[in-house]
Amino acid sequence: MAEARCTICHRALKLDTATVQNYDDLANRLCLFHRAKDDWYEAVTTPEGSETRNWDKSWQKVGRFWQRLREEIIVETDVVEDYDFSRFIFPPVTDANKNFGLYDKCFSKPVSFFNAQFHGMVCFSWVLFHRGANFSAVQFLDKTDFGSAQFFSEANFQHAIFFDEAYLGRVHFGITDSPVNANFQGAQFMGNANFYSAYFFGVADFVSTKFSVHASCANFNLAKFYSFTDFRVAQFSREAYFEEAEFSRKADFSSVYLKKASRLTIGGRAKELAIKPMINEGGTLRLVNLTVADKLTIGNINLEKAEFNRVRLRDCQIEITNSRLSACLFDGVDWGRTQGMEERFICDRDTFRQLKFANEQQGNVIAANMFYALEMREYEKELKKEQGISQDEVVFTINKAVSNFSQSWLRALGVYCAVVLVFLVMEGVSQLGFFPPPPLYQYWSWEKLLLFLNPLTDPRIIYEQGKIIFFWWSFCRLITAFIIYQFIMAVRNQTRRR
Ligand SMILES: [Zn+2]
Repeated sequence: MAEARCTICHRALKLDTATVQNYDDLANRLCLFHRAKDDWYEAVTTPEGSETRNWDKSWQKVGRFWQRLREEIIVETDVVEDYDFSRFIFPPVTDANKNFGLYDKCFSKPVSFFNAQFHGMVCFSWVLFHRGANFSAVQFLDKTDFGSAQFFSEANFQHAIFFDEAYLGRVHFGITDSPVNANFQGAQFMGNANFYSAYFFGVADFVSTKFSVHASCANFNLAKFYSFTDFRVAQFSREAYFEEAEFSRKADFSSVYLKKASRLTIGGRAKELAIKPMINEGGTLRLVNLTVADKLTIGNINLEKAEFNRVRLRDCQIEITNSRLSACLFDGVDWGRTQGMEERFICDRDTFRQLKFANEQQGNVIAANMFYALEMREYEKELKKEQGISQDEVVFTINKAVSNFSQSWLRALGVYCAVVLVFLVMEGVSQLGFFPPPPLYQYWSWEKLLLFLNPLTDPRIIYEQGKIIFFWWSFCRLITAFIIYQFIMAVRNQTRRR
């Protein structure tokens, strides 16, 4: 008869010589490591209503598991090949089997926990993974601690499920010279996920990662992302903090899910930040104490209460599309210099209108004016697209030329003086003619200049000086009245308060 072997690892199934007991599952042909352990514990409901597992009845089996793990896997593997714990079902660690040599190891060879299950607490804190570490599809049924662990090669947590709290604070994915990609694609955090002060030297790949409803928070405060940060299609259900985080490259939060009652807080420094929720079921976006250097992209934010608090966007390109911003809170936002703002802002007219409105409502008149000017510019572009010259277009061109949409009182003043001078010359020419050219002083007199410049000149005084001058002066008055209005508007825009 052929020797019975485990269908997964082909380990020979045998009677345990030490205890003369059979720990392997002969019926299903699975070794001690791979056998199901559902009958090893009793489900206990605590008075609080949560469910725990009591492994007391099988303490002997659990002890044997860890002992054999040390003897047959750790010791043997240390000499020969890679550590292969894939599809292992780990019972919890008890006081009796604390020194089993898994959690205090430094793995100098690739290690795989692919599809394994950890029934008890997992503690890999301070452990060094010198070569590839594969935790993909692992189920962590209890609390998990990877605090200060270091991954020097591949770190793969794809589709891992953390059923309870997961502490990955101060974990290092690589070092400066050899970055390691942290792959959490499709992973699920059912409890708190804590990446406080973690170092991501390689790509931080959280594509489709779920921070589940049961979790109270995902904490990335003070985390450092030195490479591309990818949270696309990630799901946030509760609080998610990225305060004082550092994103040295692009941080991509496009097509994230913001579930009901979720709150995404981002702060710190970012080179490039993109937030475009695909689905937003009423979550809140908060940008707090954030500096964006190169580019900020916001889209599909239909949040009622997005908060922009102490956000510095100097010299940064800002692209906002398809968002509802009227009810957003803008507090201490540095939108950058007015110069070159047309190049820096990539928004449509309605976005500018909303930004204007929101800033005006909150008493930030200067920012509101800037967005008003930008809104007008977009409107002008729209008008230009239409066929022929419309009345609106004429008004807009004049408005822009005279005061840059009531933004520049200095320009209005300049235009005013220029127009007065033109009319003075016209008046002179119509009195004396171009040819033969009369001497300059005949065109010119200080009295006449002042009469034309002063908007409060009494028309009767002019009328007494003759009909030609009266004609030109009235004409000049008619046109300059509009410019004066523009001038007053511009000055008022710069100084008024609510
Ligand atoms: Zn096996």
